[in-house]
Amino acid sequence: MPGTDTVIIGAGHAGLAMSRCLTDRGLDHVVLDRGSVGERWRTGRWDSFRLLTPNWLSRLPGWEYCGPDPDGFMTANEFADHLSGYARSFDAPVWTHTRVFRVERTPDGFRVRADRVDWSARNVVIATGYHSHAKVPALAAGLARGMAQVTASHYRSPSSLPDGGVLVVGASASGVQIAHELSLAGRRVVLAVGGHTRLPRRYRGRDILWWLDRTGALDRDIDDMPDATAARAEPSLQLVGTSDARGVDPRVLQANGVQLTGRLLALDAHVAWFADDLCDTMCAAQDRLTRVLGEIDRYAAATPGAAAGPPDPPPTITAPATPSTLDLGRAGISTVVWATGFRPSYPWLAVPALDPDGRIRHRRVVTAIPGLYAIGLRFQGRRNSTFIDGARHDATFLADRMIADRALCTAR
Ligand SMILES: Cc1cc2nc3c(=O)[nH]c(=O)nc-3n(C[C@H](O)[C@H](O)[C@H](O)COP(=O)(O)OP(=O)(O)OC[C@H]3O[C@@H](n4cnc5c(N)ncnc54)[C@H](O)[C@@H]3O)c2cc1C
Repeated sequence: MPGTDTVIIGAGHAGLAMSRCLTDRGLDHVVLDRGSVGERWRTGRWDSFRLLTPNWLSRLPGWEYCGPDPDGFMTANEFADHLSGYARSFDAPVWTHTRVFRVERTPDGFRVRADRVDWSARNVVIATGYHSHAKVPALAAGLARGMAQVTASHYRSPSSLPDGGVLVVGASASGVQIAHELSLAGRRVVLAVGGHTRLPRRYRGRDILWWLDRTGALDRDIDDMPDATAARAEPSLQLVGTSDARGVDPRVLQANGVQLTGRLLALDAHVAWFADDLCDTMCAAQDRLTRVLGEIDRYAAATPGAAAGPPDPPPTITAPATPSTLDLGRAGISTVVWATGFRPSYPWLAVPALDPDGRIRHRRVVTAIPGLYAIGLRFQGRRNSTFIDGARHDATFLADRMIADRALCTAR
């Protein structure tokens, strides 16, 4: 059985960031991935997908976007190729097409059982992604058998769905983008809206993520949050990356004929029930938006030259009247798209590191099991831990900690 100091599982941006930090410190390791480098971007995104973060906001340890369009938004394949270039740039020791099917403890550390070969290692870094499994609510079981259903990670394009209308469930980034694309393709679309964070694409003459980066909103530390659990559950950003800086907020969707409803409560064959909560949900999103734009205005006032324009009028949206039930058959709906979020999943982890919800228990990437770490999860050290741009902080922290642990072991 070959041995190494550290096995990193997953060659997405987080696993590669970790690999680069270990390489820089001369620490022996391998990166194992069940597919290619950046596999999820190659196989788990719809055809028209683009990052919602601008190209310049893809900083990885020792690597940044150097192309001609720093303010543009990469397609999924472009980003996967960007990651492949990153791996090549430091000759990352990646074993592609090597699925890990069991991680177990040994007296010296871990045995990592994978296709082709087992590894023994002192450390294991789990970098298999927060978004590894689409979360589909249990109520999906009530849907009539003849109706098609697909998750956001399996949705590809309007033409990949059966003819007819579509009920999209979930209004964060994936849900609103898919609903918008379907409506532009002439489909009847009903969007069941749950909690979301609405932001304008541009504000005061700059991309909203430029502001969030400059004001430090993305770098906020988990220890400064009054409620870490609530902070980790913050809804994701309702944004889309396009060259024309257009939005995909409920107003844009309605203008394109998308019918908005409250949260989906139940499905009984062809009948869907919705909560009467759209007004409350949109008010909560409006409050969050007002708070964020207020922080930006304060930063702009204190930082001469930051703003490239005056404050834009607050983009307020009024909630429309919504139905409490809908007969999907009569409404011509043939498909349900579940854009209801993701959850990580570790069926191969034979080490007691999970909480009752199946999430890795950790504090700032460090689990309670000596030598076991996880990166790329939500709000680990900072708010942007699960964003491409945020992995560098957690990877650097962990690599430095491994060096310190090593020094301690040598001293003993
Ligand atoms: C739809 C969507 C859009 C997003 N858009 C953005 C965006 O615009 N900007 C941004 O900053 N963030 C975005 N994110 C968030 C985040 O950057 C991505 O989820 C990112 O893919 C997470 O990177 P990762 O390296 O942690 O995991 P992943 O990219 O998911 O990589 C994990 C790797 O682990 C491998 N793996 C899994 N199980 C095993 C196993 N058993 N054995 C071996 N290998 C395994 C997989 O093949 C995969 O390559 C988006 C997320 C989603 C879901």
